[in-house]
Amino acid sequence: VAELDLIRAIARALSPPGERVVRWVGDDAAVIKARPLCVTSIDTVAEGVHFHSATHSPREVGHKALAAALSDLAAMGADTGEAYVSLVLPRAHPHGDALALVEEMAALADRTGTTIAGGDVVSGPGVVVSVCVVGWADSEDELAGRDAAKEGDVVAVTGSLGASGAGLILIEGGSAQGELQEAHRRPQPRLAAGRALARAGVSSMIDLSDGLATDARHLALAGGVRLEIDLESIPVAAGVAEVATGAGLDARTLAVTAGEDYELLVTVPQERWDAATAAARTAGSTLSRLGEVVAGEGVAFREGDGSLREGLRGHEHR
Ligand SMILES: [Mg+2]
Repeated sequence: VAELDLIRAIARALSPPGERVVRWVGDDAAVIKARPLCVTSIDTVAEGVHFHSATHSPREVGHKALAAALSDLAAMGADTGEAYVSLVLPRAHPHGDALALVEEMAALADRTGTTIAGGDVVSGPGVVVSVCVVGWADSEDELAGRDAAKEGDVVAVTGSLGASGAGLILIEGGSAQGELQEAHRRPQPRLAAGRALARAGVSSMIDLSDGLATDARHLALAGGVRLEIDLESIPVAAGVAEVATGAGLDARTLAVTAGEDYELLVTVPQERWDAATAAARTAGSTLSRLGEVVAGEGVAFREGDGSLREGLRGHEHR
């Protein structure tokens, strides 16, 4: 009975569904008016592995779980559609906490044009949140993948890097409030930029969840190419340099190895560069040129003196 109360409270916390939704929460299954291409991704976060209840509030967990899933739709260039949420909660878990988690998720869903169209709640040993997101497109050329980077393409990134990593350092140091901490707690999926860049003809795209040093490897591997990136070209977010210095770290190294910025890394054919920068700008973002795609494999970072660093890695434990 208590479980049923929670499910009813969750249903009340959700906004009315979008116009594509024919049937949703309250039926045995959701029914959605489809478009030609369905773009689906699932993301799971588990207590003790991806977050700790001592340092992450239920609201942050709710936001991050949906934001991470939506970021994968951004990386494909898809329009947002629906989300389906599975919640595993310990029996003694306070209903207020579960509701706060869902409310924060619902707020992000509203801002991104996503309908939380279904889900379930079950008991288990710890909090686990699975979010399946469904995005839509009308044709394949509206979307981007990871595997088509070509020799001669420009390597570029949206926005700026390092804010989330610097925010985490501050939070762990006991400083809870501030813009960098907020960037870590409530990362924003770059949906508008992803859609615009895919349509502008980028050759490959990936969202930066594990950090540029690691995510760039995925583009290199999938494309069968090598990415060379100038460390001096890395757009380091405001305030990151001070935090890095305080922690005895190099700001650019922090910016390329810390994860969870959720900016978009792209490779762009030379002739599409102007279109891509214009697309990023129209989407309210920026595009910084980092380097180029060359023959070979892996990722190398070029220092100011021209020497190459090969071994940089992001947060691969996730
Ligand atoms: Mg991804």
